[in-house]
Amino acid sequence: MGGTFDPVHNGHLVAASEVAALFDLDEVVFVPSGRPWQKADREVSAAEDRYLMTFLATAENPQFTVSRIDIERSGPTYTIDTLRHLRRTHPDAELFFITGADALAQIFTWRDHTELFGLAHFVGVTRPGYDLRRHASLPDESVSLLEVPALAISSSDIRQRVARAAPIWYLTPDGVVRYIAKRGLYGPRPVAPSVPE
Ligand code: ATP
Ligand code: MG
Repeated sequence: MGGTFDPVHNGHLVAASEVAALFDLDEVVFVPSGRPWQKADREVSAAEDRYLMTFLATAENPQFTVSRIDIERSGPTYTIDTLRHLRRTHPDAELFFITGADALAQIFTWRDHTELFGLAHFVGVTRPGYDLRRHASLPDESVSLLEVPALAISSSDIRQRVARAAPIWYLTPDGVVRYIAKRGLYGPRPVAPSVPE
């Protein structure tokens, strides 16, 4: 499961758990992106912070792991590179790429999208506000669309909540809530010290 994970939240975790059960997966590898090319317009938190939050959120689940492959590759993150890497390191594995239906709808803007379908089976999970209608030209045998329990949780909303000092408890695991506070992520910009009189 690829994502920016800025921060990871319970929507991601529920989706991963649901897909793992339905497709009988051995493992779900969370892959925090390096520099997301589609999010060049906003400042993304340091890769190490996003990696550590994802690690904290998944550590207790024996089926969940976190990979550093995308954060250690230089340059922007393209899913095709991630999948080629996983194919090389796991030559016998059957690969599934879990992504939100919103992201899947944009798949045709991804680099080398024609090759993507040969490397993995794509699972698009719904989230509230996104239509599940199948894109006419998505190949049926390589793409599954699936509804997960609707969780109106997004990383953007969590960041905005932190910035206005609203609670984020229960939207993301407790360890992530505490890590965000400890590192001062997403907080309002520190007020400039007033000029001494
Ligand atoms: P942002 O609000 O910054 O875009 P996000 O919540 O969408 O963040 P991403 O890291 O962009 O989080 O998401 C990674 C993947 O998880 C994407 O494919 C996204 O569609 C999916 N996803 C995010 N939130 C949910 C949710 N609540 N339910 C199901 N899938 C989700
Ligand atoms: Mg998103």
